[in-house]
Amino acid sequence: VLVVAGLSLKNLEPRVWDPASPYHLPGLRAVMVSYADFHRSPARRRAAVERGLRAYLDVPAPVRLYLDNGAFAIFRRGGETVADDYRAFVERAHPDWYPIPRDVIPGPHMSIEEQRHCLRETLAIGDRYGDDGYAPVIHVGRVLGEYIASVRASERLRAKRHLAIGGIVPHLLRAPKAAPYADVLADLIAARRAFADKELHLFGVGGTATLHLAALLGMDSVDSSGWRNRAARGIVQLPGGGDRMVANLGSWRGRAPSPAEWRRLRDCPCPACSRDGAAGLQARGLAGFRARATHNLWTLLEEARLIDAHLRAGSYRDWYRDHLDNTIYRPLIDHLLARLGEALTPGPSPNPGRGVP
Ligand SMILES: [Zn+2]
Repeated sequence: VLVVAGLSLKNLEPRVWDPASPYHLPGLRAVMVSYADFHRSPARRRAAVERGLRAYLDVPAPVRLYLDNGAFAIFRRGGETVADDYRAFVERAHPDWYPIPRDVIPGPHMSIEEQRHCLRETLAIGDRYGDDGYAPVIHVGRVLGEYIASVRASERLRAKRHLAIGGIVPHLLRAPKAAPYADVLADLIAARRAFADKELHLFGVGGTATLHLAALLGMDSVDSSGWRNRAARGIVQLPGGGDRMVANLGSWRGRAPSPAEWRRLRDCPCPACSRDGAAGLQARGLAGFRARATHNLWTLLEEARLIDAHLRAGSYRDWYRDHLDNTIYRPLIDHLLARLGEALTPGPSPNPGRGVP
């Protein structure tokens, strides 16, 4: 599964995609920026349009550039003018991957009729942008089955090469009225099977444990900003899902690493830990943030590499039991493995990361 690192234009440090940076992560294959960051800053928008997004961010060619529509942040009041601006931006800034200008996200608290209303609006926008490279978006929720049926019924949407799935996190975290996780996972399996010919992107997957779910569900790519959010709160990620608080930055509280976990962190081969060791992770200010963010993203990329390798080798079931922490997602992973049954040992395949055949 391809890990797409979410960036923030407010602070581009650490420059993990940049071979000239001491924090460069050679394993990083894709980054994502949000259109919301350009929408808020006309100067930034102008520069990206004039130079192209790749030159503006100075991202080397092997790293794919994903753009998010930022709908969640900027479309609360609707408005087609923003959609037109977004379209003009896409045409001139040339991201490699971009969703439809707007998608209306159904919240777990919504009634089924309200969720259906979001679906109709999102599908109508998808249909309007049917002929070009815009990835249609569908949402996890009680009407995902209807989304799947509607996309398959539309000739234009059916012809798309890409499809993005949003809204998974609130539903898996069991917000009030959220569907039980077994239903959410069953729906995602159904989506993977229904769109076997498409590249599926899963929006907003936070940490290492949710990465396991995405890989087992056969998603092609996921994006995460969790590496930065956690770093800002003084948190580092350990392989196998654990979050540990290493820097006391004020009001945030969390579990500190055990002595054994500190030893693991001291031995961490990521660029930040190799440079500054555990003291770097504990530093305050920008230096500490850079170290923790780099460490977190390296851990996520390494986790993805290990998951894919074990799925490919048919050793995933034996490996994850000891590797994975007791995260809140653990029962979901156990459940998913039971459901997938023998289907998990795929053998050689053109897309070996896929858990669902
Ligand atoms: Zn590290």
